[in-house]
Amino acid sequence: MARFRSLRWRLTFLYLGLLAVLLVIGGVAQYFAAREVLLRTNADTLSSEYTADLAAFRRQIASRPVTAPRLVLLSHQFAVQLASGHTSAAIIGPDGGLITSQASSLTPELTPPTLPVQDYLDALRSKPKPYYVATASDGSTHLVVLNVLKNGIRPVGVVQLSIPTSAVDQALRADRELAIVGSLLVLLVALLLSPLIIGRALQPLEEMSSTADAIAGGDYKQRVRVPRSDDEIGRLALAFNQMAAGVDQAFEVRRESEEQMRHFVADASHELRTPLTAIAGYIDVLSRRQVVDPETLRQSLDAMARESTRMTRLVNDLLTLTRFESSPLGRRQLLQLDTFLNQALDELGLPQRGTGESRQIQPGILVEADPEALKQVIGNLAQNALKYAPGSEQRWSLFTANGMAAMRVSDTGPGIARRDLPHIFERFYRGEAARDRTTGGSGLGLAIVKSIVEAHEGKIEVASEPGHGATFTAWLPLASQQQAA
Ligand code: ADP
Repeated sequence: MARFRSLRWRLTFLYLGLLAVLLVIGGVAQYFAAREVLLRTNADTLSSEYTADLAAFRRQIASRPVTAPRLVLLSHQFAVQLASGHTSAAIIGPDGGLITSQASSLTPELTPPTLPVQDYLDALRSKPKPYYVATASDGSTHLVVLNVLKNGIRPVGVVQLSIPTSAVDQALRADRELAIVGSLLVLLVALLLSPLIIGRALQPLEEMSSTADAIAGGDYKQRVRVPRSDDEIGRLALAFNQMAAGVDQAFEVRRESEEQMRHFVADASHELRTPLTAIAGYIDVLSRRQVVDPETLRQSLDAMARESTRMTRLVNDLLTLTRFESSPLGRRQLLQLDTFLNQALDELGLPQRGTGESRQIQPGILVEADPEALKQVIGNLAQNALKYAPGSEQRWSLFTANGMAAMRVSDTGPGIARRDLPHIFERFYRGEAARDRTTGGSGLGLAIVKSIVEAHEGKIEVASEPGHGATFTAWLPLASQQQAA
């Protein structure tokens, strides 16, 4: 039963129902049209068969004045003359009343049918209809034709000729039976063929349904075959594939971010484990000794303090990174970037730390930014130059290009190895030179810079030739006219 509830069967039944209704309407219309044609043809034949007799009778009446008794006499003779075979005749007077009637020779016992008086009067007054259908006293139906008799222009009576409609009915019955059998055959063929045709048209939908099941089951690469036709189903298949591609992409992004998260957690744990192991080692060594000389104790405590500072820095870096990566900037405000950069560099006090510094700052640059975050960007870039290009001069510049503000720092240090260059913005990535150096950080400094700049809808760039220093440029969008106003 559930099978017949499918779209294919519902469409089939709908189609068959519609076809049946159309066949019934067509059949009924055809029946009445055929009946009309048959009755008219029979009526025409009947009239034309007796044209000569009627003309003779008309002449008889016209030749001498007609008195009522004479009309009755003439009528009777004429009716007898007309009635023959299946045809019966009747003469009706000018008042619509029956003067005389004569049964057909094949059924002499039956009185010929009569029409309502009004029909005769109407025929006398204007013109008779092409034919009439009347029921005789025995219940049989008859085709009736009327002819008006005139004396000059004065109507004096109506000649009625009638034949039974049984021949017409028989022809129509055969016609009707043929139509019913034909319609049933058409319905049967439609019942056999339409599920196949509709099923074929709905095939892509079934495919889509099983593909959707496969996608729901985790096979995101599944797609449907797009039919070549540019119809609703073709467009649906296209849209379906686009949606499947979207789902696939979304899951790919999720898989990637989960993968990244796993790496991040693993790297963070690894980074934290190093100082923790070192501290545990010192505690272990100290606790094993009965007596610890003050010098060893001081060295161990210093080392533990160093490890703990390193760990604190790492945890702080992690917190900063997650803050900028997980939530958009909270405290954005309009910043006069030139003044801001000058102040931030002053606060860093690079010359006091023995590092040369030059500034080329274009005034009047406005950006919308989080000041604390931007200070971190400047600080991290300056710290890196201090760490990796010690003693080299830091050249800071600020300018606008392509509708963006560019904040740039260059040093003349050893630069960045070619194979490190594509990775330095990755979390926990440390260049070859930095790995074995005690000055090296956790490898999060540039990742933090990148996430802050991107949170400002900007981008960070690096250029470096090994041996010729490194240049970092942070591009930030300029504040719009409205914001500036
Ligand atoms: P860290 O926090 O360890 O300093 P960063 O993410 O700031 O890590 O830097 C990643 C790597 O980029 C460093 O290990 C270093 O190799 C390289 N690097 C960064 N800045 C410079 C620079 N100014 N000169 C040379 N190398 C640099």
